[in-house]
Order: sequence, then C-alpha cells, then structure tokens
Amino acid sequence: MFEDLLAGLKSLPALAPYSLTLYCRTPSRGEFENCYSLVEDALCRDVARQFFEPNMEVYFQEGTTSVCRYGGGFFGFAIPFRIWSDEFCLVGDGVRDDSIDLWQLAALARSGGGEVFSLFPYVESLCTASLADVEQVAHEVAEEVAKLVEKLSLAPQTPALPPSSPSAAGEPGEEHCDPRLDVVARSLEELDLAKTVTETIGLCCETLVTHFNSPKTAIALRDASGTSFQVSGIWGLPEDLGSIPADAMHLFMAKDRRAKTVLFDAQMRGVLPALQATVCTCFPLRCQDERLGFLALFDVAPAKSDALLISMLAGATAAKLSRIIKDAEQSKENALSQRLMSLTNTLLQVDSKDELYQAILEIAAELIDAMQGSVMLIDKDGQNMHIVFTLGMTLNIARCLPVKVGKGIAGMVAQSGQPLLVNDVEKDSRVAMANRLRFKSKSLICMPLKLKDKIIGVLNLSDKKNLAPFTDADLQVLTSFANLASLMIERTEVLEESERFEQLSVTDALTGLYNRRFLKNRLEEELNRSIRQGLNLTVIFIDLDFFKNYNDLCGHLAGDDALRTTAEIIKASLRDMDIVARYGGEEFCAVLPGTSKVEAMIVAERIRSEIEREIFPGESEIPQVRLTASLGVASFPEDGRTFTALVHASDVALYEAKAGGRNRIVAARTSPGQKETPIPATPPKTSKTLDFNAYLEASVGAKG
Ligand code: GH3
Ligand code: MG
Ligand code: MG
Repeated sequence: MFEDLLAGLKSLPALAPYSLTLYCRTPSRGEFENCYSLVEDALCRDVARQFFEPNMEVYFQEGTTSVCRYGGGFFGFAIPFRIWSDEFCLVGDGVRDDSIDLWQLAALARSGGGEVFSLFPYVESLCTASLADVEQVAHEVAEEVAKLVEKLSLAPQTPALPPSSPSAAGEPGEEHCDPRLDVVARSLEELDLAKTVTETIGLCCETLVTHFNSPKTAIALRDASGTSFQVSGIWGLPEDLGSIPADAMHLFMAKDRRAKTVLFDAQMRGVLPALQATVCTCFPLRCQDERLGFLALFDVAPAKSDALLISMLAGATAAKLSRIIKDAEQSKENALSQRLMSLTNTLLQVDSKDELYQAILEIAAELIDAMQGSVMLIDKDGQNMHIVFTLGMTLNIARCLPVKVGKGIAGMVAQSGQPLLVNDVEKDSRVAMANRLRFKSKSLICMPLKLKDKIIGVLNLSDKKNLAPFTDADLQVLTSFANLASLMIERTEVLEESERFEQLSVTDALTGLYNRRFLKNRLEEELNRSIRQGLNLTVIFIDLDFFKNYNDLCGHLAGDDALRTTAEIIKASLRDMDIVARYGGEEFCAVLPGTSKVEAMIVAERIRSEIEREIFPGESEIPQVRLTASLGVASFPEDGRTFTALVHASDVALYEAKAGGRNRIVAARTSPGQKETPIPATPPKTSKTLDFNAYLEASVGAKG
C-alpha cells in the first residue's frame, strides 16, 4: 500500500529529483518508524533523516506542511497526515539551495566521520531550487496526499505494514578534495572579518582572480537608489562597464542562466555595450530575497566544481554585503534619531514662533546640506503666502516675491500638503519651469509645514552644497524632521496662546496698558516695598477733558485712537520701573515707585504738556479746540499709606483740577492729622496747586 502511495506521488514531474520517505506511527507502537522509502540520492536522504527524524513528533503536532533548509543548504519538506488511527509523515528531500554554507557542510561531514569536504562532490551534483520552489512542490504533494488519504480512508481498514528497512544509504563516493576548497574556505573566514563593502568586494575578487582562471571577470552591484546596477571590471575588463537598469537584470539573473555558462547574446550586449565577450557565467549576489548584484565570468566555461565554489563565494559575499549595508542603515537611523533628539532640545529653547521658524529653516538646511532656503507662511485669507525667513538670499527681496496658494512649486505643496522632491526643475513634468538665475542647481525640496492637520506654510530648500540633486534619503530625513518641526510649531502656538490669555487678563485690550485689577495688586506690592525700604511712591491720575465731546464730534473710532495715543504719551513719559494702567474709560493711573511728589510733578507736567501739544485728529471741532487732560497727584507716605487712601487722595486732587478749569495738575493736600512727610521736596501743604510753576517755586523755596 505504501509502495503504491509513494510511487503514485513520485510520478509527479516536480518530484523527480526528490527522495520520498514515509514514516508511520500505529497505536501499538509509540515511535514514528520509517515504513517505506524511494531514494534518489542516498547521501541526501541520510542528511534529511538526521534532520527530520528527531522532529517527527513536532511536525505531526503542528499538523501542517513544513519546508526546511538544513545542513548548510539542503531543502526538504515534511507532510503529516492520518489514515484511520495511524499517523503518517511524508518527508521529501534531494535538492539544495543556490548558496551553500561551507562550514555547516564541513560540520555535517565531520559528524558523519567523513573528511571535512567529503560531502562536497555530492552537493555539487544536486539539483538547485529556491525556498519558494520547494514550498510550491510541497504544496502540490500535500494536495495529492490529501486526495490519496481520502481514497484510502474509504477503503476497508487494513493494518499498517511493518516498517520496511530503508533503502541502503550509499557511502559517500570517491572523495576528491580540491585544494581550492581550502582556499575558498579561508576566503570565507576572511570575508567574515571584513568591515566595509570595499573590503568585502576586494576579498571576493582577489579569491576569484587568483584561484579561478577567468580571463575576464566583472561584478555588478546595486546602486543606492536600487534602480540600476553598476558593473565594474575586476580582471581583464575596463573598470567602468556601465550600468544595468533593474528591469534588465533578468537577462543575467534568470533562473536558467544562474551559474550556467550562456552565450553573451545581443540583448546582453545591448545593455552592456562596453563589454566584449562571447559567453558569460553569472553568479547571483543574493541574500535571502535581497538582490545585491552578481559576479560574472566571461569567455570561460567554469567546471561544475568551480561553479559551485564560486557560488559559495558569491553567497558568502552577498551575506556579508547585506549585513554591512544593514548595519550601516541601522547606524544611520540611530544617528538620525540622536540628531533629531538633540534638535528637539534646540527647538525647545526658542521663545517665539518667529525664532522657531528661523531655527527650523536653519536646521533643515543643515540636515540636507542645502545652501538656500525659505519659510513661507499662508496668509489669513488662505489665498497667498509670504516669506518670513530666508537663507542664502535677502529677506527684503524675498518678501516681495508673490506666491499664490496652488500656483508654482511652493503653492502646490501648500495646497496638497505633500512634500515634493524635484531633481531638475526644467525637466520635471510636475513643475517644468526655467531655473531662476539665483539658484545654482536645478534640484529642490519643498516640505509642507503643518499645525495639526492644517497646512500653515512650506519649507523650501535648494542648492545642495555639492550641487548634486537632492536624494530620496534627503527627503526622508526632512520628512522626519518636518514631523518634529510640526510638533514644535504646535507647542509654541499653544504656549503663545496661553501667554496671550495670561496677558489679556492683566492688560487692557484697547491700549495694551495694565488694567485696573492688575494695578491694584502691583500698587499694593510697591507700597509694601516702599514701607519696608522707607522710599517714596507717587500716584498720578490722568483724565481726558471733555472727552465725551471729542467722542461725540469725532466718532468713537477717533476716540479709541485718542485713548491709544494718550497711553503712548504717558508710557513715553515714564521710566521702565513705573507702572501705568487704564483705570477706567478715559482715565489712566501711573504709579512711580521711589519718587517723591515734587519729582512726580515734573513727570505729570511732561504728560500734561505732551497731551496738550499732541494734534488729535478732529480736535479743532470741539469747543475747547484742543484735547487736554487734568491730573491729580498723591504720594506715599504723606497722602495715604494704602491703595485705597492713595487712589482716593489723587482722585480728589483730580476733581479739583477739573473744577479749577481742567488742563492742569493738582497735588493732594495732606490732611491735617497726617504726619508730615520727611522728604525734603514736599509741596506746600495747603496750596491747591493749579499753577505748576508756582508749585515748583514753592517747593524749591521750601528746599532752600
Ligand atoms: P470731563 O473731562 O470733565 O470729565 O468730561 P468727560 O466728557 O471726559 O467725562 P465723562 O465721564 O462725561 O465722559 C467720558 C467719556 O469717555 C464717555 C465716553 O464717551 C468716553 N469713553 C469712555 N471709554 C471709552 C472708550 O473706550 N472709547 C471711546 N472712544 N470713548 C470712551
Ligand atoms: Mg474726562
Ligand atoms: Mg472720566
């Protein structure tokens, strides 16, 4: 029965090179036993037996078809199935991988008591296949097995046959140990130590050139973009042989051409016109599914054993190259993440959005070696953009460049939100425009700047330092950075917003001066300090005269402007340490710490006269012809020791100024019970100082 089953399966064309072995476990026997074998290659069968038998239980438990690579390059499959209560596992083996691991093979030979390279001739003669090929075969066989099982399960139950002895595994045939095996083995050892791509290729080429008599040898290696393969002569050929586009690689790497000598035909010549040859043998440089290039021998047909050795060399070279490239990519990625981390710190230091945009532009330019760049922000109307920062060009000139959202390169990116890498502005069909004179190269990158999902502007970078086009790698680096930059823009936006709110709660929206609430707190703080330090402090109240008239005749907007101008005049008359607030509608209050009344009177007069001198639009319309202000002045300690007392005293003085005819200053009169100020320049206690000069004279007189 098993014989029939295996014979039936073996008739599948795909199984021609395979040996098939059926293992069986009946309920009466606990172990899987070999019950029948159809052996194609005794040695392969033996290696497969060593690999599959100890794991039989596992394959059965998994219950699905397994395809394995073992022993340095052999392929095999195991298909578990059940008929009635008997468990079976079908093992197929007999093909090998293109690239063989010489060390595992040697270890295998040693474990069987053979000479280090005794397995070599066998391996050489085996059919080659890829993992995918074997998977395909295993899949087909599993389907056939399922059909047969179904048929058998319907037949009357018969006990499983006692295990038949496996076909004799032949001893390894004649052992011919090629001295070049040792050479290749040593090369592989050295390859393992190579640190760079150049070193790896150098070692591989040296071995090829020295030990395999190829008159012409070349190597093809994938370029960084992966779109073509650069071909270089190693021996007997010009160094630069041109390049093969990725989509023409099948001419050299097709399965039926791999490691086989074929005619160097017209198609191949078409791709590599610089190469004069009649035949060629290509050995793929492939690691797992990665196609790195090939080694090629021209005008020679290498012997089968040479071909296997060169395949091994190519396999080891490819594995090493792949590892070096991956390590380099990894360390590049690590370096980039570290760089981005430190850039985050730089961006966290900036205080405002303006500084942030500038930092973003400078860092982005540094990251991809760009010499020119700009930051453009979309205007509130969403239609236009304006340049806020530039690198390598004058901001004032750049500011004049009109950019419409949706038009031109930056405009397109601002609309789509998709970054754009242009190799040549004149040739790229997406942009196709003449290169502007101010640019040295024709390549550029344009990145959108985003706030959450909203596009707020773009980052333009051009003129790479070496004047080469920007690369996909540059675009990738910049994309990572743009994500970070967007986060930072968001953060700064939130911070500025919260600061604005904080400010709004202490300032008056119309004039930008502090508001009454803030003034009270600050005045109290300043009073406490004055008490502690024994310093004077003076409060000045300023109220615009007949402001209602001005408002009525000139309009509310003009009134607002007049309030803003008044605020500016007052601020300009004070020191930085003084505090000024809008106390009410057209009423302002200034607090002058460390300032006596007589000193403050000078300041008050400066404010009064400046307001009088200022030409407020339309003021000639009002009956008084000029917009003026009245001021009331009160000082600590003589006029009061608390916020309320000082405000009251200056308010009373202000009322007196109004009553006295306006456009004048009145200092508070110290009440009789109040202790006299120790400060020398005290104003006359009783005088209602409508006349500033008289007041000054009096105080100077008092000093004198
Ligand atoms: P006097 O100098 O004698 O005190 O007369 P006045 O008209 O200045 O005083 P009054 O209190 O009668 O009127 C103040 C006016 O100030 C009333 C209002 O029209 C105007 N005002 C108050 N707040 C604002 C403001 O925020 N904007 C504008 N445009 N006007 C304001
Ligand atoms: Mg007024
Ligand atoms: Mg008023």
